[in-house]
Amino acid sequence: LATEESRASATPMMEQFIEIKANNPDSLLFYRMGDFYELFFEDALEASRALGITLTKRGQHMGQDIPMCGVPVHAADDYLQKLIALGFRVAVCEQVEDPAEAKKRGSKSVVKRDVIRLVTPGTITEEKLLSPSESNYLMALTRIRGSAEPVLALAWIDISTGIFRLAETESSRLLADILRIDPRELIVPDTIFHDAELKPVFDVLGRTAVPQPSVLFDSATAEGRIARYFNVSTLDGFGTFSRAEHAAAAAAVAYVEKTQIAERPPLGRPERESAASTLFIDPATRANLELARTLSGDRNGSLLKAIDRTVTGGGARLLAERLMSPLTDPIRINERLDSIGFLMEEPSLCGDLRHHLKHVPDMPRALSRLALDRGGPRDLAAIRQGLSAAGDVARLLSEALLPEELKLALSRLEALPAGLATLLSETLGDELPLLKRDGGFLRDGANTELDEVRALRDQSRRVIAGLQLQYAEETGIKSLKIKHNNILGYFIEVTAGNAGPMTDTPEAKGRFIHRQTMANAMRFTTTELADLESRIANAADKALAIELAAFDHMTSAVVAEAEAIKAGARALAVIDVAAGLALLADEQAYCRPLVDGSKMFAIEGGRHPVVEQALRRQSSGPFVANNCDLSPVSGGKDGAIWLLTGPNMGGKSTFLRQNALIAILAQMGSFVPATSAHIGIVDRLFSRVGASDDLARGRSTFMVEMVETAAILNQATDRSLVILDEIGRGTATFDGLSIAWAAVEHLHEGNRCRGLFATHFHELTVLSEKLARLSNATMRVKEWDGDVIFLHEVGPGAADRSYGIQVARLAGLPASVVARARDVLTRLEDADRKNPASQLIDDLPLFQVAVRREDASRGPSKVEEALKAMSLDDMTPREAMDALYDLKKKL
Ligand code: ADP
Repeated sequence: LATEESRASATPMMEQFIEIKANNPDSLLFYRMGDFYELFFEDALEASRALGITLTKRGQHMGQDIPMCGVPVHAADDYLQKLIALGFRVAVCEQVEDPAEAKKRGSKSVVKRDVIRLVTPGTITEEKLLSPSESNYLMALTRIRGSAEPVLALAWIDISTGIFRLAETESSRLLADILRIDPRELIVPDTIFHDAELKPVFDVLGRTAVPQPSVLFDSATAEGRIARYFNVSTLDGFGTFSRAEHAAAAAAVAYVEKTQIAERPPLGRPERESAASTLFIDPATRANLELARTLSGDRNGSLLKAIDRTVTGGGARLLAERLMSPLTDPIRINERLDSIGFLMEEPSLCGDLRHHLKHVPDMPRALSRLALDRGGPRDLAAIRQGLSAAGDVARLLSEALLPEELKLALSRLEALPAGLATLLSETLGDELPLLKRDGGFLRDGANTELDEVRALRDQSRRVIAGLQLQYAEETGIKSLKIKHNNILGYFIEVTAGNAGPMTDTPEAKGRFIHRQTMANAMRFTTTELADLESRIANAADKALAIELAAFDHMTSAVVAEAEAIKAGARALAVIDVAAGLALLADEQAYCRPLVDGSKMFAIEGGRHPVVEQALRRQSSGPFVANNCDLSPVSGGKDGAIWLLTGPNMGGKSTFLRQNALIAILAQMGSFVPATSAHIGIVDRLFSRVGASDDLARGRSTFMVEMVETAAILNQATDRSLVILDEIGRGTATFDGLSIAWAAVEHLHEGNRCRGLFATHFHELTVLSEKLARLSNATMRVKEWDGDVIFLHEVGPGAADRSYGIQVARLAGLPASVVARARDVLTRLEDADRKNPASQLIDDLPLFQVAVRREDASRGPSKVEEALKAMSLDDMTPREAMDALYDLKKKL
């Protein structure tokens, strides 16, 4: 499109379009023409298809029709929302000069236009485009290759709220860290976008990951670029960051500048997050536990949905953030729990707080629109209302003896600028237009000059009403009206049949100047009316100018307090989350977990937070509470593993998941669905539950299962919690049993973690005889009249049978098949008794885990062999020295 030839043959406007499009090849170009954004060529084809809008054409280019489609400017947000959701990026191109200026240059000259903003998923601010309860992160990834291992860093920014964070990461946990933050857009240097090591990560992220020119990520200039954005001479005051973190932060900031072009959103200072401060949850676990979304992508049915009782957008976002990144520091966790405990003891305060919080609008997002010059009167009103609600909340809290977290929140609320609240309530009216250019948003009495102009306008309106009466009397036409439209301004209108008195005499003709003849009406004006008209128009212009100036004044006053407002909004979110969790705990009978640095995991009366609520909604009987105790057995220092057997449908998966969810809830600082819970900090949570097929990536169910199991066995530490559901099910029985057997031994001897291991292989239960920290537990069932009844109760011991055939019968398998299966089973069991797997426990020595947890099959290394072969006593010092050099070479 952008060839010289094509440009030369184009009209001046098309020439301009082609040039601007050439600079924005990967975005749809919204080209402003009057009240429309028009799209041309390929863009028009794509947009009309994506938006379902009519494709037309406009003129020709190189002998071909130019396809075109357009969206009205006032509805542009709706279309942008659709396009962004579909993964498009949009460059918004506006007229940047008054069309009159262009005319002065000559009749052919086109109005200057420029792209004023790139709209991408990670850089939007419009209320319509954002979901109130979700953060909208743009994230940048960098990799610095130094002398040692390459270092990866992430920086993430939400320009709609100003949050700016950074962290270092490693390739093994990169995807987990990205998914924890769940960005809308991840920018990656184009040099590593196709890197073999990182490509699988980008594949999972799909269209979220976008390559960007490497200069954006340049680490040498990074510090200076960040300092320039924040208008400081050095970053020393921001804390210490690594080179990789600087580069990631600078790239994120550069991308914000690149997309926002004219404006700079008010970003908070970058805050560093250390990997160790959050509970590591690997991607498979995050998905399987359905924390924020179910496996099918639905928000309903997720843990977040089940525990969210917040009433503000900020609170909902903070709750999601806490759930996605639970803590590992007992002190901080207990601070959060203290707030909930306090509010539970003060239910009426909690209710009052929630009542006031309901009126809190989204201050950070309104603030960011104002700072980006995209705000309107309603954004100012949001700040006003937020400040006033914050005042109410602060008054309520100031009377109580508060725990730490709430005390800090209160101090933030008290630091909110009182002067700003006064300015806004005294200046801004009550009924507000969407756009500032519509005017009418200043309060009467706020500005004397404006009041005068408005009085003049109102007076003129009265004069016009008087004129209408006067003209009607003068002409004797009772139905004479003075009307107004945008083309003629004020005019007199009479029906065509009545117009006689205004046209018959020369005198009348001189007085009533004819303007327009319609099908059945005639329109006139008079000098008096024209005079009034211009006075009114002037007054309106003047009034608008005064209002716009006042708008700018209020906006700068708001933006000047950006830091305090953001901190205040954060404080309101903290209070909202605490109050919401207190309400949840009260309503669902949750208890305060005891969270400390031990390795305890003792849950009494534990329930599954989501299943429990679902059962209640469907009134399908109570959820059966169950205990779980993985605490170190007497005197030992490492936690225990439970081997859980029981029939299908017995409730194994539910039990496994509920304990993982209780750990997450406790560490995010929430009460938990149990009667009591003592949880020693978990550093990493792993789960392998359900068979999540990954056939799209060419992996069978069994392969996925093994990949996930491998990750767990390689990464779980003695502080981790591991939940494994039916390992080895996807292959032949003996293969599966062997793998499960070895995995249990490895978890016990190598990882030494706390764990729950559900299995169909009853043979495994004999392992508890040899492994000290392994105990058997089973889902109780009752047999009754050949049927099986699931009690959903976990008790000690092992299941003696699977009841697979009973379950199959319940599921409606034909009676003949069930009977035949019973026959087959009896024979198999007979055969099995003659060759019991329990012999294994006597015949097979206990599996040894290599000290460095390396692949045990690899045997001693060359260095080890060489060392073994040396007889040190027979060596001279010189020989010893040479031997040392040799050893070093073998490394
Ligand atoms: P399994 O993994 O043993 O096949 P599930 O955990 O999938 O069994 O549970 C089967 C069904 O039993 C689920 O639909 C669940 O709603 C119900 N269930 C599980 N545990 C309980 C419980 N503790 N109380 C009540 N119902 C339960």
